[in-house]
Amino acid sequence: MSNVVVIGAGPAGMMAAITAAKNGNNVVVVEKNGTPGKKLLITGKGRCNLTNSCDINGFIANTPVNGRFLYSALKNFSNNDLMEFFENRGVKLKEERGGRIFPVSDKSSDILNALVASMKSQNVKIVQGRASGIVTNNGEVVGVRLDNNTLLKCESAVIATGGKSYPLTGSTGDGYALAASLGHEIVTPKPSLVPLETVEKNVLSLQGLSLRNIGLKVFDGKTGKLLYDDFGELLFTHFGVSGPVILSASAFVRNITGARLEIDLKPALSEEKLEERIKRDFEMYSNKNFVNALVDLLPSKMIPVIADYCGIEHEKKINQITREDRRHLTEALKHFALTVKCPRPITEAIITSGGVNTKQINPSTMESKLVKGLFFAGEVIDVDAYTGGFNLQIAFSTGYTAGMNV
Ligand SMILES: Cc1cc2nc3c(=O)[nH]c(=O)nc-3n(C[C@H](O)[C@H](O)[C@H](O)COP(=O)(O)OP(=O)(O)OC[C@H]3O[C@@H](n4cnc5c(N)ncnc54)[C@H](O)[C@@H]3O)c2cc1C
Repeated sequence: MSNVVVIGAGPAGMMAAITAAKNGNNVVVVEKNGTPGKKLLITGKGRCNLTNSCDINGFIANTPVNGRFLYSALKNFSNNDLMEFFENRGVKLKEERGGRIFPVSDKSSDILNALVASMKSQNVKIVQGRASGIVTNNGEVVGVRLDNNTLLKCESAVIATGGKSYPLTGSTGDGYALAASLGHEIVTPKPSLVPLETVEKNVLSLQGLSLRNIGLKVFDGKTGKLLYDDFGELLFTHFGVSGPVILSASAFVRNITGARLEIDLKPALSEEKLEERIKRDFEMYSNKNFVNALVDLLPSKMIPVIADYCGIEHEKKINQITREDRRHLTEALKHFALTVKCPRPITEAIITSGGVNTKQINPSTMESKLVKGLFFAGEVIDVDAYTGGFNLQIAFSTGYTAGMNV
């Protein structure tokens, strides 16, 4: 039996601790928050999209940064293993759009409770405190130092401190400093899956408006090349745009600053069909002002913005609207364009891209190639994936692999 200290009680740390304890090790988890899994609780809007039903190649394809590094970890503990883990503990799961897996209860707390109960049943000890140093001797881990100067002696330590996003959940980037102090290279942390600030101020009046089904195209600001094309939900905010389709786009488009977003407000209609639809509406509302004739086409907040966008006077009578005006309206509805000023800060990103360089980690064990007995798990590693349950599976698979090898 060896002594293991896991730093961080997120999904990666908890899975590492459960696995290590099951293998007969004496495991202590150090967590600086009063309770484990603070971030896990807010995942998937409180519903926790814990994994995805796709195969291993799907996982790697959905992990744009260092996806292949995860091959062994995903083999060691696959999405099916993860689902079995929870179902064996009484958490029923369901599949939704795009292979996304959620608990049937729609409660992330069910996922967290199952992990906490497993740690308890394996006699994992949780210590509240902040790990501030890893003590080594001759290139081997001998202990973990806490803020209050306590030394937890151990033969293995797992750094599972998460990234730098949503710091109120506890992920403040401590793991980078711990790893760097032992000679590891840290790939500069950057926001990924992040809301976007826009140059245009016209969207500010749309704050709070959520559009459930829009088409989104993203073009390179310099070359005009199409970089991303998808459908989904978009939310206007006090700085620009957010919502699932924007978060996904932000991760696909590596150089997002300056990019042009083109929003299709009527993705179900071709331009011809939309023109016919507008014609019909305008025949019905022939005595109304332009803005009052758009009530069936657009949410009310959007009407003045679109009227300004297509340069048509708000009070212009419909019977004076020209074919040219109608074309401008169709164009505005199908190609409403915004320019990305910058991504929001890392603190508002769902995921941190960057972290401990994967070249310095053994992908089969998650052990550092520089320090014996030092392991990494979860978002602290330089891997990040798109939305769809991939990031949590990465945390669980790397946590399991570290736990098996301590
Ligand atoms: C709003 C939101 C929604 C998300 N939804 C999803 C989703 O539905 N599906 C999905 O796959 N992914 C989702 N993610 C991403 C997912 O939550 C993370 O990828 C995942 O939590 C990473 O797990 P982790 O264990 O590596 O790190 P974390 O969950 O960040 O846990 C790290 C833990 O380490 C502790 N810690 C840090 N430093 C120290 C220290 N020095 N000493 C002691 N403890 C320390 C922290 O307090 C924290 O508890 C979401 C993220 C956010 C922010």
